[in-house]
Amino acid sequence: MLNKEKISEYEKKLRAGKTELLLKIEKYSEAEDFGDDIDHSEEEANESESFANRMAIAQTMKERVNEIDIALNRIHLGSYGVCEQCGKEISDEVLNLVPESNLCADCKSNR
Ligand SMILES: [Zn+2]
Repeated sequence: MLNKEKISEYEKKLRAGKTELLLKIEKYSEAEDFGDDIDHSEEEANESESFANRMAIAQTMKERVNEIDIALNRIHLGSYGVCEQCGKEISDEVLNLVPESNLCADCKSNR
């Protein structure tokens, strides 16, 4: 069972992760020429492709922020750490890796 200490630990992680993501999203989203000075000579990627990539990465990060918000809300509601699919507890192993997880390892691998 998740105790309060554990939960507040995960909450800290979630908040830190969210702050980090928001900063990254800002960087990725602003200035279209961001990253042009990165040496891509060994890669085939051209600049417009890398711009599209950045947008895709920013989008993925926004989705993660959304998941973190949902997880924070679940902490608030007292349902954090419970699998949404089967109602079992999500293991520490999973939560340590991805604190915003809403599925246990079994359900995740069944998807
Ligand atoms: Zn499950």
